[in-house]
Amino acid sequence: MVIEAARFRPNDPDPLVRASFACSLCLREPSAATVDHGPDGATVLCRCAGCETTWTVALDLEQELRLELRPPWRGMSTVLRHH
Ligand SMILES: [Zn+2]
Repeated sequence: MVIEAARFRPNDPDPLVRASFACSLCLREPSAATVDHGPDGATVLCRCAGCETTWTVALDLEQELRLELRPPWRGMSTVLRHH
């Protein structure tokens, strides 16, 4: 499985943060993002409903905190889950 490192900074606006999680095939927002918390950060398993594909994005601790404090998909259909 491909693991990409997220490239956003914690103080980036939501659209930039969301860009780190976009589907690499169709650029859609993931339909579901499941956060798996680890000791050095988190990995986010993303699923695209359009392509039926999944991918994983790795976050450092600051990025993980940003996702928790200010989820970038508010008001969107993306389902954010914590494992
Ligand atoms: Zn897609």
